[in-house]
Amino acid sequence: MLSLKELLAVRQKPYDKKRAAFISKAYSFAEVAHKGQKRMTGEPYFVHSIETAKTLIRMGLGSKSVAAALLHDVPEDTDLSLENVRKEFGKDVAFIVKGVTKVGKIRLRGATDEVYLENLRKMFLAMAADIRVVLIKIADRLDNMKTLHVHSREKQISIANETMEVFVPIANRLGVGEIKNQMEDLAFKYLDPENYEDTVRRSKEALNVRAKYTKRAIKELQKALKQEKIEILNIVGRAKHYYRFYQKLVKHDMQVEEVYDLAAIRIIVPTVEDCYRVLGIVHQRYNPMIGRIKDYISLPKPNGYRSLHTTIFGPEGKILEVQIRTRKMDYEAEYGIAAHWIYSGDRSFKELFFRRKKEEFEKQLDWVKQLRSWHEETGGLSDEFWASLKIDFFKNHIFAFTPMGDVIDLPEGATPVDFAYAIHTEVGNTLSGAKINQKIVALSYVIRNGDVVELTTEKKKKAPNKDWLKFVKTAHAKSKIKQALKKNKINF
Ligand code: MN
Repeated sequence: MLSLKELLAVRQKPYDKKRAAFISKAYSFAEVAHKGQKRMTGEPYFVHSIETAKTLIRMGLGSKSVAAALLHDVPEDTDLSLENVRKEFGKDVAFIVKGVTKVGKIRLRGATDEVYLENLRKMFLAMAADIRVVLIKIADRLDNMKTLHVHSREKQISIANETMEVFVPIANRLGVGEIKNQMEDLAFKYLDPENYEDTVRRSKEALNVRAKYTKRAIKELQKALKQEKIEILNIVGRAKHYYRFYQKLVKHDMQVEEVYDLAAIRIIVPTVEDCYRVLGIVHQRYNPMIGRIKDYISLPKPNGYRSLHTTIFGPEGKILEVQIRTRKMDYEAEYGIAAHWIYSGDRSFKELFFRRKKEEFEKQLDWVKQLRSWHEETGGLSDEFWASLKIDFFKNHIFAFTPMGDVIDLPEGATPVDFAYAIHTEVGNTLSGAKINQKIVALSYVIRNGDVVELTTEKKKKAPNKDWLKFVKTAHAKSKIKQALKKNKINF
């Protein structure tokens, strides 16, 4: 178990006195709250809180987020309440902890239906309401994956499934690559043990074969870069993560030789300019493979990933991948901050976030630009920064469940009638009543996020009620109601 001092030392740049004291207070508070509780592994429960906080520190988050991570299971699992947390740590920390608790209650269900899964991810983000909540949930899940071995096989599979289908894609979009890779490898191990073992074995063998000429290439490049007076911050041979390696093997019909980036050399240099200079030097020394030069600095990946990649014919003509980036890019690639995806080019996400009018969309982009420059100027993640990051993109969105657990995506203010038409026109036309969370409600009831909506229909019913037009929210429901009314010659 990490002591407070060890935990604080995880941060590259130390916290100032005030912030360190705030984290220290949360550390003691959570330690006392969880006293006597044990995890299934036999360790004190508090170890889990610390591990979650550690990941948050690695992500570069501030003292409030780290405190919230330490406290994230306090209201749910101890005698102390959210109100206690609020009194001691203020409303921001309480808001985050509350979000973590709320999101923890969403029953995620392993499924294969893409639409369903996509809605699940959206709903998870919508209910989180603050990106820090999502990051804590990711850190929380990573630690739970690391201790999954204590659970039954059945539980292992269901948790690993959920991790792979919900948490991994979200972590990927948030640009926390290192955490995403770790979660993916852990899930892979439980979901497909045979292929996992096989991949580990193949990866080790292949890396052994490649170690010799990778080393030689590193030596030669170091020399060449020194001659050009380029400061090398770091240069390493690097092993791929197993799941990513396995996916590439599948893509290349299990031909290990075809996976060029299994062993890659990563060169870290001080500036962007240096990156391009290094690329030139690498290509002078070794022939590049046509079509394999990728400039993710000019054109970052949707999740914000930036780096130069090239595949070369290295020593003995062996194929090698070289990645060139700055320290900052390297750090962001592993523990990227939330700001990444805001200005990302991921269309499905953008559509979801920005399903708004054009002017609003542009206003939002301005806001994002401002935020980015402001963030780069100050270099810190202040409250103001986080406040502007609140997921109000979802303000206009509601996600509700069918009793079977399917997720229906609706606009804010939607009613059971909208819900019915979203399922099927026939369900809408024959709708006679609704229950929300097992309680009977009026058909004009306004659905809230996470509500379970159960509908009753009357098969004999011919037409919808024209009064519904007064309160339905979706254009879809409106037009279907009008259609049905016309067909039945009912004036409205
Ligand atoms: Mn937890």
